[in-house]
Amino acid sequence: MNLILLGAPGAGKGTQAAILARELNIPTISTGNILRAAVASGSELGKQAKACMESGALVSDEIIIGIIRDRLAEPDCAKGYILDGVPRTIRQAEAIEESGIRFDHVVSLEVSDETIMNRMSGRRVCPKCGASYHVVAVPPKKEGVCDVCGAELITRKDDAPETVRSRLEVYHRETEPLKEFYRSRGVLVPVEDMGSVEATSAAILAALKE
Ligand code: AMP
Repeated sequence: MNLILLGAPGAGKGTQAAILARELNIPTISTGNILRAAVASGSELGKQAKACMESGALVSDEIIIGIIRDRLAEPDCAKGYILDGVPRTIRQAEAIEESGIRFDHVVSLEVSDETIMNRMSGRRVCPKCGASYHVVAVPPKKEGVCDVCGAELITRKDDAPETVRSRLEVYHRETEPLKEFYRSRGVLVPVEDMGSVEATSAAILAALKE
């Protein structure tokens, strides 16, 4: 099964992708996590992406298309995958489609901007494995420590309120038009945020079975 999780920054894509990946036994591919790892390692890709990411702007379509083409060609993607945070522009969606890739469902997580602004201040992420948490909604077992790999959790620089505001603007301008793109291909599945992680993942799984 090939899936896309679409939604504003902070809508819960990463959290829901991890749950779906376990349920469906397919990998999640997050361009945000791939880019953060590149920045942390100081690679050429990381150097190119760093400034855009810190200001909340999008990294160029060419860079993203290259990352995705390489990653989807790896053997663990043969049975299917969940894309989290990609495509983010019509150009990226067209490039993926031009590679002959089709999606079974494109789940659009619907969350208001106001809810997102309130949520982002509590988000914590693992700089090592990319797992994401929320101090109230999804706390780690031990405060400040990743359940998966034991690294110390951090607040993403781009989760500062001013940066979140501009990321939301970028989302509405560049990414939201993808809903129409995939609706016209008959694969869009809008799912309302249900107020808790468990209730939202149940709603997604139910919608995928319809
Ligand atoms: P995310 O973790 O998905 O919120 O991504 C963090 C940042 O990485 C974004 O604000 C962008 O700067 C960059 N990024 C991640 N995925 C993409 C993408 N598909 N297209 C462009 N930029 C991206």
